[in-house]
Amino acid sequence: MHFQRLRLAGFKSFVDPAEVQIEPGLTGIVGPNGCGKSNVLESLRWVMGANSAKAMRGQGMEDVIFAGAAGRPPRNHAEVILTVDNSQHRAPQPFTDQDVLEVSRKIERGRGSTYRINGKEVRARDVQLLFADASTGANSPALVRQGQISELIAAKPQNRRRILEEAGGVAGLHTRRHEAELR
Ligand code: ATP
Ligand code: MG
Repeated sequence: MHFQRLRLAGFKSFVDPAEVQIEPGLTGIVGPNGCGKSNVLESLRWVMGANSAKAMRGQGMEDVIFAGAAGRPPRNHAEVILTVDNSQHRAPQPFTDQDVLEVSRKIERGRGSTYRINGKEVRARDVQLLFADASTGANSPALVRQGQISELIAAKPQNRRRILEEAGGVAGLHTRRHEAELR
């Protein structure tokens, strides 16, 4: 699964709609301090179902909504849309046959998050599993936060194991087993 395009609106500092085209190969984001580079990466985690506000550098999840700046009033919702190339049909069922997956997450103040895949409303779990199976989940080691390397060195063995499991593509299996045991 190849990420093709990331669109943001009202997410953190991106009050106006912004779009990032992701070409195959290495993509670099450059810019002065505070211009929003980390916010772009966080929006990618967020649309894949990240559920820790702390990992988004906020107190609560609504902190990802544009909070107002430079004379611009705050927004009431934020949306991120990720376009994924699935022409190799590696996505799990029921999305396997779709050539392109448009995954979106929207948050409204007081109403929480809504997820959609190709326009159809789905659970957070569905989105998390979709990406966990592809080893690119919200906690994926493919996305390295500022300061994360030093955290990894100091991590407890159990937490380090979780990172290795996600890298090995078995994180989705754990979630499914956990759900099956609860039933
Ligand atoms: P550095 O080079 O220092 O790592 P960066 O390019 O990664 O910087 P970010 O941390 O992505 O920058 O962006 C920080 C900016 O985003 C700050 O100006 C901060 O005020 C703004 N910001 C974060 N959350 C919100 C929000 N909810 N509403 C408005 N602006 C926000
Ligand atoms: Mg940064």
